[in-house]
This record gives sequence, C-alpha cells and structure tokens, in this order.
Amino acid sequence: MSDIDIKSMTLQEITDVCISLGLPKFRAGQIFRWIQQIGVSSYDEMTDISKQLRLQLSESYPIHGCEVEQKFVSKLDGTVKYLFRLCDGNFIESVLMKYKYGYTLCISSQVGCRMGCMFCASTKNGCVRSLTAGEMIGQIHAAQRDAGVRVSHVVIMGMGEPLDNFDNAMRFLSLAGDENGLNIGMRNISLSTCGIVPRMYDLMEKNLQITLSVSLHAPENELRSKIMPVNRKYPLNDLMKVCREYAKKTSRRISFEYAMISGLNDTDECAYKLAELVRGMLCHVNLIPANEIEESTYKRSGEKTLRTFCDILRSRGVNVTVRRSLGSDIDASCGQLRSRRENNTPTGGEINENICQKR
Ligand code: SF4
Repeated sequence: MSDIDIKSMTLQEITDVCISLGLPKFRAGQIFRWIQQIGVSSYDEMTDISKQLRLQLSESYPIHGCEVEQKFVSKLDGTVKYLFRLCDGNFIESVLMKYKYGYTLCISSQVGCRMGCMFCASTKNGCVRSLTAGEMIGQIHAAQRDAGVRVSHVVIMGMGEPLDNFDNAMRFLSLAGDENGLNIGMRNISLSTCGIVPRMYDLMEKNLQITLSVSLHAPENELRSKIMPVNRKYPLNDLMKVCREYAKKTSRRISFEYAMISGLNDTDECAYKLAELVRGMLCHVNLIPANEIEESTYKRSGEKTLRTFCDILRSRGVNVTVRRSLGSDIDASCGQLRSRRENNTPTGGEINENICQKR
C-alpha cells in the first residue's frame, strides 16, 4: 500500500500532482474538495472532471477509504459503533455520538496498539500498523455518509496511540481543519495520549488549539507502571512536567482521564494523591467508571466509591466530572469489535456497558 494515498494529500501536494500532469491549478482545488469536503470514495463521483482524467488519477492515486463492515446502534441514545474495513483488509473502530452541540466521532489512529495498557482490549494483539492521515479522515467520511449527519467534533481516542503515529496524526489535524475540506475547528478536536513524553513536547511546539487528553489512571508510579507500561519509560514526574509546560505554552486546559477500577486506583488515598499531583495546573479530571472487558479481570468501581473519590477531588479544588456513558446497550469498548471479528466470535447486540476508558 502506498504510504500517501490521495486522501492523505494536502491541497499543495495535489496541486503539485496536477502541475506534473500538465493540468491547470484549479483542478487541484476541485479534486481536493471532492476528496476532503464531500468525501467521495471513487473518482467516478467527481462529475466536473473528465472521464479520462478520472481514470488516469485512479490508476496512480488510489482513494483509500473505510467501508462499514458492521455497525451497532444504541436504542437508548442513538450512539453508533462502527467496525470499518480498510483497503488492506484490516479492521478499526469508530464511535459516533450525539451531543447537544452536534455529532462527535471517536476515531482510531492505529490498527491495534503497542502500548500494553492492562485494561484495554485494543492492545491485546499489539500494533499491526499505523493509519495514514487519509484513513483517519476516511472514518469521518464513512460515518457522515452512513449516518447522514455532519461530524462537528472529533476525539482521537479510539484504537491506537496517536502520538505513536505522530506525523500522520499531525497531517490528519491539518487536513481536518482545512477550510476547503471538513473545516473542523481545532478547538473541536481532542487528542488522547497515554503519555509519550518526547512527542508531547513535539506537540507542544506546534502550539495547536486542540484539547490534549492524558490517560492518567493512577496517581503514583508503582501503580501506574503496573497498569500502563508506558509509565516505566516516562514516569509521572516527567509526564506532569510536560503537562504543566504544555498547558502554560498553549493556554489550553489539559484533560486527565482516570478510569476508576475497583480496589485498585479508587481508594481515598489515591484521590488525595491525585489532587496533589494536579494541584495548581490548568486542567480538568474526567473520572470514568472503568470498562469491564473480557480480556481482563478488572471491575469498575461502585457508585458510592466514585462519588466519594469525586468529592475528595472537589474538596481539594480540582475541576472534576464523571463521564456520562453513551450507548450502554451496545458492545462498544475500544478494541473489542475488532478482536471478535478477527477471532470470528459472534458479536451480540446486548453487551456490556460501553465506556471507552479514554473518551
Ligand atoms: S488505552 Fe490507548 S494507549 Fe493504552 S493500549 Fe489502549 S489504545 Fe493503546
């Protein structure tokens, strides 16, 4: 597969292609809009471009989109969980959620993940490959086309670690924000990381207005290293240092994600440590009742424990919310659909609670 399909190309790169083919520059604008704004899956749909040129382009510059392999729609709130098939036969997942302010799509950035977080189904078979920027954009196109809606917000919190696919993630941001393309404002995009510190500094240098979400899940090194191997390489001191610098440089509030796992990270002591860790930082803590996946024995914290934890943080001046669950009647924890599809395990309609740990 070519590294850069036409859906991954910027307007300038398509302009260069047009020039090399002896075509006028305005053709590039037309092609870019068809690809990025309309989200066509075939050159045949480009009605203002000659048949001959369409044929020529399709032979040299394939459009790598996403096809809906399976989808599950929540009867409770309309949340849609998609299993998309990529052009090389790999599967990825996306979730479309409706909020008061519009539609949000949670997209994947890799096929699988190599970060090894203990509570996550996406990582169980490692990382197969990173997605191209076009494949990340393609998830938005495919969801919009299928649901007949406009996606106004994107969270890069599905399968994969976006900062482990840094260049493609940055290219995705620039394509998604292009006013001739999907034109999604940077403030409407959240990127979630488990804490790859050097790449967080790289991201900081871009000074983007996106929301950075950090999967924290533990307030001290021993516990965090146990459930998130990335912490052995980039321990909490380093992580919190870059978070403070990031918030200062971008003036954007960091969002810390904290999956509440019964008996593991949900004690009062953990709450006090967490409050201390984020003290004085421009940030927000999102408590998430942990998702129970077949691949692990972790259980989510009870209601009362969750409330107490939240109260302790609030009493210490921490800006905290408990994430609301969408699509609780469909099977949707990140990575499960793909692993079931690949193992040929039937996927039922009534399944576990759906809360992505990161979203
Ligand atoms: S939580 Fe994110 S970083 Fe961790 S294994 Fe899952 S997809 Fe990868």
